[in-house]
Amino acid sequence: MPVELKGNILVTGANRGLGLELVKQLAETTGQEAHIYACSREPEGSRTEALRQLTTRHPGKITIIKLDVADEESISAAVQAVQDQIGDAGLNILINNAGIRKPALSGALSATKKNDMMEVYETNVVGPFTIAKVGLFSAEPRFPDASIHFSAIINISTAISSIEKCPETFSAAQMYPYRISKAALNMLTRCQAEDFKTHNIVVTAIHPGWVQTEMGGENAPLTTVDSVLGMLSVISSLSNKDRGMLLDWQGNTIPW
Ligand code: NDP
Repeated sequence: MPVELKGNILVTGANRGLGLELVKQLAETTGQEAHIYACSREPEGSRTEALRQLTTRHPGKITIIKLDVADEESISAAVQAVQDQIGDAGLNILINNAGIRKPALSGALSATKKNDMMEVYETNVVGPFTIAKVGLFSAEPRFPDASIHFSAIINISTAISSIEKCPETFSAAQMYPYRISKAALNMLTRCQAEDFKTHNIVVTAIHPGWVQTEMGGENAPLTTVDSVLGMLSVISSLSNKDRGMLLDWQGNTIPW
């Protein structure tokens, strides 16, 4: 049964692509009981112009927060900035959307440098790890809010993280650093799902589909609008059975 998404919702990598569309649809579809913290590495920069315009169109609904998920100090500062606004209310939904794919093209073994592996891991795995860690434990209760009865951490993963499906997906998209980092993100999801059970936080990984963004490219079959419509429907229908699972944007389970 879908629930109306309420409370304090934080989206990382919200200045473009899927993150921007997530913030847009959340701003349009949630009521007064929701507030969106939209994170960008450079709130004042030109790449955040569309998010600033969106914020102006929804006065009082969206707060832009400076956040580089690969920088621990930036994460601490962002958590502090959010906490200054929400006090003990805590976050209700955290969407770890920010991600990178390196090297730019195929990510074949011969084209991949050690630094690509490290950088992608740091952003796609250590970022979500640190945000949940700092966000949850620096001042409890961070996520749960007894009046809302729904708290979730959503880790945006990918179908090509699936180890079982690797023989089918590998030749079309080798992408060593990217698919390995997202497989690690899936394990993070599984661990957090166990760890945060007692906090009643649902932790789930979602594959957005292959989507027309800077990362997905123009040949992708899905628009950001349709992908996000699907993902928000999945998020608002999450229940205990989805803890620690990898779902796609239509709610289908993807095998690990
Ligand atoms: P884009 O490349 O279009 O956008 C990526 C976003 O992440 C940007 O807002 C970017 O900000 C932000 N970001 C990157 N690094 C950092 C960082 N260190 N700190 C903070 N923000 C950062 O990607 P998509 O919108 O397509 O992807 C969103 C998520 O969906 C990713 O996790 C991706 O792996 C996943 N995904 C996408 C698919 C697709 O087909 N598009 C398929 C499967 C999964 P900035 O502008 O500052 O670079």
